[in-house]
Amino acid sequence: MSYLAKNYNRRKISFIKGKGSFLYSKDKKKYLDFLSGIAVNTLGHSHPTLLKALNTQAKKVWHVSNSFEIPEGELLAKNLAKKTFADKVIFVNSGAEANEAAIKIARRHFYSIGKPNKNRILCIKNSFHGRTLANIFASGSKKMTEGFGPKVSGFDHFKFGDLNSLKKKINKNTAALFFETAMGESGIKVHSNKFLREVKKICNKKKILLILDEVQCGIGRSGKFFAFEYSNVKPDIVPIAKGIGGGFPIGAVLMTKKVAKCMIPGTHGSTYGGNPLAMMVGNAVLSEIYKKGFLANVRKNSKYFLFELEKIRKNYPKVIKEVRGVGLLIGLQLNVNLGKFINSLTQNRLLTIRAAENVVRILPPLNVKKNEINLALKIIRKVCKEFDKK
Ligand SMILES: *Cc1c(COP(=O)(O)O)cnc(C)c1O
Repeated sequence: MSYLAKNYNRRKISFIKGKGSFLYSKDKKKYLDFLSGIAVNTLGHSHPTLLKALNTQAKKVWHVSNSFEIPEGELLAKNLAKKTFADKVIFVNSGAEANEAAIKIARRHFYSIGKPNKNRILCIKNSFHGRTLANIFASGSKKMTEGFGPKVSGFDHFKFGDLNSLKKKINKNTAALFFETAMGESGIKVHSNKFLREVKKICNKKKILLILDEVQCGIGRSGKFFAFEYSNVKPDIVPIAKGIGGGFPIGAVLMTKKVAKCMIPGTHGSTYGGNPLAMMVGNAVLSEIYKKGFLANVRKNSKYFLFELEKIRKNYPKVIKEVRGVGLLIGLQLNVNLGKFINSLTQNRLLTIRAAENVVRILPPLNVKKNEINLALKIIRKVCKEFDKK
């Protein structure tokens, strides 16, 4: 009997140790971890740089209130700003919280310039932005909102990749466009550079803010620090979380100084957000990702992985319908039962996770080694062969 509520479907495995790309279970099995706690363990498990940062800071001070200066957070904000579009940062603890803050900032910006009615947020139908009340209604997903009414108003929706549907939904009260640069949970769907550039043009013309949720695709996951860098489009607000903590809960909102101006004392806060322990772990994650060649290596591994997966798809078209993704945010859309396929991968010691649209999500650590990718490919081939016979 478990005292945990049943809000997750848990696999019957528990882990006692992690090292690099591998997890070790209580029953002494070794698993290749290609889901990375859902794009969280950017540098794999027990990375020496992260261990050192955590242990060093733990001996100094863990937590102080945001009513004091926190130099560790100043440093992380500076580290984020110097390599990105951002001028200012607010730290929180999770992706959902970062998204909520992003929505607040967009609305407050227009309020502060005397346009309080410009407050509607335009999102993608059946998207994912986290599980808080505002975010589930931002998702426009029936499944996620069922039973959680009354509806949080203020969100409109357009169809993924459909510029006409987007244009139709814009009106004078639209404050911001809000979507993931590359969608994770919703089935690994990557916006084209052309689409993003068109969106930016519309934003400029209609004076609408662009919020790009990079909670999953950000922090190197796409092969660039941010996925939107491929398009050269500059957003106004970017919520991040998952990868930035490498396993320590951190969220943040990055923004331009234009929109940051409205966030005066008292407008937003978070007790834990930006505490010294979290901040030093975040700084350690960035010190690795910023190393020369790190992101180029992600892109190289991605190219190899996607190419080899495509070969498998060609051999087993009855099993795999499509290979898609960017960087190490990879999806296999299946023609077979998703749950059974993932179970079979797990039984063969490869950990992956599901996404919408019958997609297996593959999210290796960003420092994954080529021989580990080869091991994953071998397992995927084996499982495809099994399912091809069925
Ligand atoms: C995971 C995720 C969130 C929610 O993050 P939490 O830390 O679970 O609150 C929001 N947006 C995207 C794109 C995500 O992938």
